[in-house]
Amino acid sequence: MIKHKKTLESYRNIAPPGTLDLLYKLAERLKKRSLLHINSTRLGGGVAEMLHRHIPLFNELGIDTRWEIIEGSPLFYQTTKGFHNALQGQFHPITSQMYEEYTKINQRNSRKIDFSSELVLIHDPQPAALISKKRKKSKWIWRCHIDISRPQRRVWRFLREYVSRYDGAIFSLPSFAQKLDIPQFLIYPSIDPLSDKNKELSQQEINSVLEKYHIPKDKPLIVQVSRFDRFKDPLGVIEAYRIVKEYNDCCLVLAGGSATDDPEGEEVLKQVKDAASKDKDIFILDLPPDSNIEINALQRSASVVLQKSTKEGFGLTVAEAMWKGKPVIGGAVGGITVQIIYGETGFTVNSVEGCAYRIRYLLNNPEVSRRMGEKAKEYTRRNFLITRHLCDYLAMMISVLKL
Ligand code: UDP
Repeated sequence: MIKHKKTLESYRNIAPPGTLDLLYKLAERLKKRSLLHINSTRLGGGVAEMLHRHIPLFNELGIDTRWEIIEGSPLFYQTTKGFHNALQGQFHPITSQMYEEYTKINQRNSRKIDFSSELVLIHDPQPAALISKKRKKSKWIWRCHIDISRPQRRVWRFLREYVSRYDGAIFSLPSFAQKLDIPQFLIYPSIDPLSDKNKELSQQEINSVLEKYHIPKDKPLIVQVSRFDRFKDPLGVIEAYRIVKEYNDCCLVLAGGSATDDPEGEEVLKQVKDAASKDKDIFILDLPPDSNIEINALQRSASVVLQKSTKEGFGLTVAEAMWKGKPVIGGAVGGITVQIIYGETGFTVNSVEGCAYRIRYLLNNPEVSRRMGEKAKEYTRRNFLITRHLCDYLAMMISVLKL
């Protein structure tokens, strides 16, 4: 029996009762098995955020786990960002040269990576074509992190050729499941309550972050943390803030950064800066990728946290804020809808005006806001912590490896 694992034991009093014991029980069946995760970036975005925390814990559970990153070219990242947009339903032309680059880069990476693990977990479309390296004795799973409920058909048809050769696929929501002849698993992503991003902070630590960015402490803060990506709708956030600002004095913080596999970030950031230019109460923070304490402090300082996405695979930032006892107002899309229970843990909204209305409601009703934040934290504890996520992964592995 795997017992008293150092890091894992620190979750015992945070995760719901029984979670750790279940995790150890599942891990017993997978002892000494090997697992390889592959994605396309070590920094930026939710997938990298989770993998950094998962890899050491898988190893602590006795599963020999590695993490590899594929390396691309500018055209490759342009292509896969195009795939990302098209799979999330936006029209995005992909030329035949781009499809060729996608295949070429995957082939190049496939010559460099050691695929000898028993289970290979491929994250998102970028490395999906590595499946050509699958050998009979190993099992391969494709983990989709994006909202693929209404994909552009042509791009999905291309990708489906690869995905259908896997032994299974994991989606974050039932509505993202596809017509495929392979088993499909539903696994919600998760946050780590003990990471720098989410751990408790002292008021002094929080204040020093606000001071560092010259953010006033005497006005309510509306905060959205997101990569500068159109699907996160930062311009819509600024519009909503402007409506609110006519009635409530407040500040808006848009904190973001870029991911190494996202070539569009710079352009979106420029548009956001232009839109915010003349308002000294809007703070646009382009943060380096290791700004975990800073993001933690900003989320904790917020009166209201937004995630006004127009498409969202899951939206870890929602769970991160909920864990900090904040009511979240989010776009009524994808994974946000399973995290926010309307009127209980926050509000989902469909428009700029709706978003502004709910921000004002929460700013004007601090007691309601506090109670919603408390429920949000408990809901996150039960559903969106790393310990539950690891249990789900292990159960999936047991099923796929037929143990
Ligand atoms: N994040 C960050 N720095 C930033 C922007 C985002 O560390 O400048 C983190 C954020 O806190 C969250 C993750 O990146 O943990 C984003 O995950 P999410 O699922 O919200 O969105 P994605 O970027 O994967 O679409």
